[in-house]
Amino acid sequence: MCIICKCNGDYQKLRGHRELYCSGCSGLTQIPYIEGLQILDCDNCTGLTEIPYIEGLQILYCDGCTLLTEIPHIEGLQVLCCSHCPGLTQIPHVEGLKKLVCQCCLGLTQIPHIEGLQELACNSCPLLTEVPHIKSLQELYCWNCPKITRIPRIEGLQHLDCDRCPILTEMPYIEGLRELDCTNCPELTQIPHIEGLQKLRCDNCPGLTEVPHVEGLKKLFCRDCPYLVSGPPRALEQVNLQENFQRVKKRLRGIICTLQVFCEEQRFPIHEFPDSLQVGTLKTLEQVFGTTVVQRCMIQQ
Ligand SMILES: [Zn+2]
Repeated sequence: MCIICKCNGDYQKLRGHRELYCSGCSGLTQIPYIEGLQILDCDNCTGLTEIPYIEGLQILYCDGCTLLTEIPHIEGLQVLCCSHCPGLTQIPHVEGLKKLVCQCCLGLTQIPHIEGLQELACNSCPLLTEVPHIKSLQELYCWNCPKITRIPRIEGLQHLDCDRCPILTEMPYIEGLRELDCTNCPELTQIPHIEGLQKLRCDNCPGLTEVPHVEGLKKLFCRDCPYLVSGPPRALEQVNLQENFQRVKKRLRGIICTLQVFCEEQRFPIHEFPDSLQVGTLKTLEQVFGTTVVQRCMIQQ
């Protein structure tokens, strides 16, 4: 039994409380209005169906409240943690919110564009299709979001975890980024060279052929990248370079064959323009794989 249930309906007893902790109480069905309350922690109250509008509340934890369908728009709220709330379909647009943690919210389709938000953890939200471009964000955790295709280019972002995003195709150049985790992103083909990056995790990225050579990088993890053939020595130490080269060459040959078949089908006069075709082919390959990789493979052949 939590502090609220112990009141047995006489909520006068809770007067003057600035902080209220009633997490894990399955018998709790509602939260009384408590004047002056600043912090409310009602995590894992599985019988709770709603949270009242509490004026002046600054911090609200309601993770795992599985019956909640709505969070009130509480002006002045600074921290909102509402992970594992499958009934939530939206997050209120609270101006001044600094931290929003809404992991594993199965019904959530979008994140409001809250100016001033500094930390956003919206990982494992299966219906989320995009992350808003919020200039003030410093930390972004959007890993395991199966519908996200791109990451907004937020200058000032310092920490980005976007691993396990199966259709993420692009990584923007984010000036000032210090830590990046893009492990297990099969569609990712490039990681930009970000000066000042200190930690990079890109294990198991089959689309990568190159890891940027960033001076000052303190930690680098890139195991199980089957096509990685270019990068700083300690990146290449983590893969089987010989095998990777064979794979890349096979893929390059496949692309050349496809181009040749295409040219024949389109009846391009290949024999008349051998040089231009070669240049065109190389350009295409370079766009797909990056200049360094193609050049190195050409030398190896
Ligand atoms: Zn209780």
